[in-house]
Amino acid sequence: MGTSLMLISPPPPTKTHQLTPSTFPFLKTHQTISLPSSRKTNTMINSTKKFGNFLDLKSEYQPEALDFDLPWHHPSDRSQFDVIIVGAGPAGIRLAEQVSLYGIKVCCVDPNPLSMWPNNYGVWLDEFEGLGLEDCLDKTWPMASIYIDDNKTKYLDRCYGRVSRKKLKEKLVKGCVFNGVRFYKAKVWEIKHHEFESIVVCDDGTKLKGSLVVDASGFGSNFTDYDNHKLRKKNYGCQIAHGVLVEVDGHPFDLDKMVLMDWRDSHLGNEPYLRDGNSKFPTFLYAMPFSSNLIFLEETSLVSRPVLSYMDVKRRMVARLRHLGINVKRVLEDEKCLIPMGGPLPRISQNVMPFGGNSGIVHPSTGYMVARTMALAPIVAASINECLGSTRMIRGKNLYANVWNSMWPIERRFVRECYCFGMETLLKLDLNETRSFFDAFFDLKPYYWQGFLSSKLSLKDFALLSLSLFGHASNSSRFDIVTKCPVPLAQLIGNIALESIG
Ligand SMILES: Cc1cc2nc3c(=O)[nH]c(=O)nc-3n(C[C@H](O)[C@H](O)[C@H](O)COP(=O)(O)OP(=O)(O)OC[C@H]3O[C@@H](n4cnc5c(N)ncnc54)[C@H](O)[C@@H]3O)c2cc1C
Repeated sequence: MGTSLMLISPPPPTKTHQLTPSTFPFLKTHQTISLPSSRKTNTMINSTKKFGNFLDLKSEYQPEALDFDLPWHHPSDRSQFDVIIVGAGPAGIRLAEQVSLYGIKVCCVDPNPLSMWPNNYGVWLDEFEGLGLEDCLDKTWPMASIYIDDNKTKYLDRCYGRVSRKKLKEKLVKGCVFNGVRFYKAKVWEIKHHEFESIVVCDDGTKLKGSLVVDASGFGSNFTDYDNHKLRKKNYGCQIAHGVLVEVDGHPFDLDKMVLMDWRDSHLGNEPYLRDGNSKFPTFLYAMPFSSNLIFLEETSLVSRPVLSYMDVKRRMVARLRHLGINVKRVLEDEKCLIPMGGPLPRISQNVMPFGGNSGIVHPSTGYMVARTMALAPIVAASINECLGSTRMIRGKNLYANVWNSMWPIERRFVRECYCFGMETLLKLDLNETRSFFDAFFDLKPYYWQGFLSSKLSLKDFALLSLSLFGHASNSSRFDIVTKCPVPLAQLIGNIALESIG
């Protein structure tokens, strides 16, 4: 896709779109979107106007579950599975769908396999198109904008989409059902390993036997080992964000562009305490405008260590929305986003195979993971098939090693170290340095910035990107790079050396 960057052009006039209940099914329960009916809501609107603060509004979100007849596993059935997947999040369900395509016997265990995923996911359209998942987006924007500061805006010619959690989960679950995946509704309590099989113990006492256990239980996983837990805690950065899908009187954003990053800070003019904090540890606004009165807004700290205070993030958001004249009438959904980024990979070749948020595939500089997970699942599934498919019977250590290497071949591990270097560099930048960084970054050729954001660059690409970034940077940014990068660079070289010997 061709990409153009247009600097400081006035935004095109805002178009008005009609809301459709099918896009936001929970709206069906309300009479109209612009005329809230209850007295309670009216009182809240007044207080919001008075204080410009929407934090007191309670989210109206009623999580729904998929209406689906799942093929359940019955504990009385003592048959052995080839693969047991712990967790029915995006990672677990996608891998179950892909592995079962080969006729491999899969069981997916989750306390609530049919519940809707709680997070709002955004992806680049081309990433989902390449996987045949473009029908799982409920809204796309032809362009994305980056507000570097009050005087400079960049427009990226790359289509962005919001994932429809419902459509994506339905599509993947349908595939699982068609391919014969069994589901079991329980929380996994313990996993016991023997030489060629593992036993998954559930909280209801049921024991499931399988040749391979995949841990797709997300960031809070207890089943995956890391080389050094203390080091892991010390080394990872954290993205923290407060996101809300809100009904508003109006907003200033174009409906044909999503706002990838708004680094403006003029809203903090009268807030010296917040302004000072923001200059050192900046946050930006991420926004997906659905219509003139419906918008998803997320105040985001890209990466921090230690993690930025959630209350500070929310306070900055209140000040920003007040400054932008955005009056929130109803909060339809809210989310606390906390994503661990970077840090060491899980210990290589252990008896359980991590996949998803706990496996190191979160982008260390952006926190994105969904598109990468969808793309990796077929690769990991193919390697599982090579070991457990009908013709081969590779189990135990060889199985774990093969599957691990399909996900993290040595070159990808080196590249990940480069991404972690990117994260370490971002951690050192203040607001102005961050602005200069992204100003130069989005001036790069689309191949590089798009490849970087989609985790698609090779080691060579990464080296060329770094040189090109240095070439595009202003003199002051070059100075920042030279003065702030030696420590992360030393870490990068050290980690690559360790990977090579390991
Ligand atoms: C608020 C938020 C917003 C995000 N937005 C984006 C985005 O826009 N784009 C993007 O690419 N990434 C995004 N991410 C990052 C990442 O994509 C998500 O965290 C993603 O949900 C991770 O998927 P997962 O399947 O690995 O884990 P999860 O989605 O956390 O799913 C784990 C599943 O495992 C189950 N489970 C847990 N423990 C057990 C157990 N003991 N036994 C059985 N089941 C268990 C849980 O019930 C859950 O269903 C976001 C993350 C957050 C938190």
